[in-house]
Amino acid sequence: MNNDTPKPLYWFYLDNYVHLERLEDRVLLYNSLTGEIREYADNPAVLQLVEKLQAPENLLVVPLGEKELEDPQISAFVREMRSLFMGDLIETSRSSGKPVQMMPMLKLHRDIDKMKTESFRSVGVDVMKYLDNMALYVNGNCTLDCNICASAHKQFLWCNREKSGTQLPIDQIRQLFEQLVGSDLCHVHILGGNILTYPGLRELISILAEHRLKRTLYIHYSNLADGRDSLQDLGLIPDSNCQIKIPVTFPVDETKLEKASHILEDCSMPGTFAFALQSEAEFAEAECLISAFSIDPVSFHPFFNGQNLEFFEQAVFVDRQNLSNARPSMKDIHSRQVMNPFLFGNLTVLSNGDIHAGVNDPSLGNLSKDSIYDIVYREVFEGKTWRRTRKEVVPCRDCVFAALCPPLSHYEYALGKNNLCRIVGSVKADEKGEEIHYKS
Ligand code: SF4
Ligand code: SF4
Repeated sequence: MNNDTPKPLYWFYLDNYVHLERLEDRVLLYNSLTGEIREYADNPAVLQLVEKLQAPENLLVVPLGEKELEDPQISAFVREMRSLFMGDLIETSRSSGKPVQMMPMLKLHRDIDKMKTESFRSVGVDVMKYLDNMALYVNGNCTLDCNICASAHKQFLWCNREKSGTQLPIDQIRQLFEQLVGSDLCHVHILGGNILTYPGLRELISILAEHRLKRTLYIHYSNLADGRDSLQDLGLIPDSNCQIKIPVTFPVDETKLEKASHILEDCSMPGTFAFALQSEAEFAEAECLISAFSIDPVSFHPFFNGQNLEFFEQAVFVDRQNLSNARPSMKDIHSRQVMNPFLFGNLTVLSNGDIHAGVNDPSLGNLSKDSIYDIVYREVFEGKTWRRTRKEVVPCRDCVFAALCPPLSHYEYALGKNNLCRIVGSVKADEKGEEIHYKS
């Protein structure tokens, strides 16, 4: 600083638990400890100050002189930041130099760049640490005919018989898990069709137990009610690493639901009843059934059927208050900026062997001919699913809330738009001639 320049009175800083987003003339500040959100628009003085704070050399600390603090917009901003514990002033006379703010950096990109320069073998081994969840559709056979069967699994983890007549050979599954030794895979979801009709189920469960993998078996309540003997044949031993998830679809056969809850009780396995809901009326009915049969625990999965937008908006769409209440941490925010925490590390293997990073995205290969190393490598280095962020899609890329909103999920595909919120008005991505999820 020039000796003739008067020393500024204060250092103004924002705390490093504050997320700051600036887009054109809009600014958002979010306190990750309290959930407080503040937005500023059409406020040139604040915009200029925020630009300075964001400059890489400033690391959220800037000098503020008396003249600047006399500006009503700046002084109101500083007052608000102080009252919300988002920032503060330090008298420059109290510090010998400019205070330093430590800013966190995310490791993922650095790791991927580093791996690219190494030999294929080390890449093959390293890349496997990103895999942590797998949905394995062992067959496509089911004699039921639920009205949501064709598309529920494209919105959340659910059984389906889309690939009716196909099943994964148990030898291929065994080879798959042999390749996964040393990976970070920890949880396998076993789905069908009706998995109780899959001849290799007992062997599959013991393979997963040998590999110390957490396993969740998905058995529709009606298939469970009719499959007591098949379940007993599995010889399941109560184990905290093994649980049953029981999809429930409407209309519900109450006799079978009650029977399924008794079967689950008798086998002493931890289980969750998962209700797919299309309306408020179904939600009310689910609550009555849960109470009548003392079902616990339960989960609810809103299902979009093309006709129930109003219900879906109530159940799934977010507003400012939801984002504030969800209180994403700075770690959540940073990871959402470079990858999709909802999809990252997940693979889905369908009963015809096709492997997908996201069930709505194109297949990355097939279990019968591709190694799992190649599949994970392809997704990490070339794929779009695991690293699909709101910053790449319309209209979220032009929205200051992008890092606060939940990561893109399968619901955006189902609705054909990315802004499942009550914050930014309806914009269909394809109205701009762009891919629904990803800016090409
Ligand atoms: S139980 Fe599952 S697989 Fe069978 S019809 Fe219903 S949704 Fe489809
Ligand atoms: S437009 Fe996208 S980023 Fe903005 S609030 Fe809506 S969902 Fe969130």
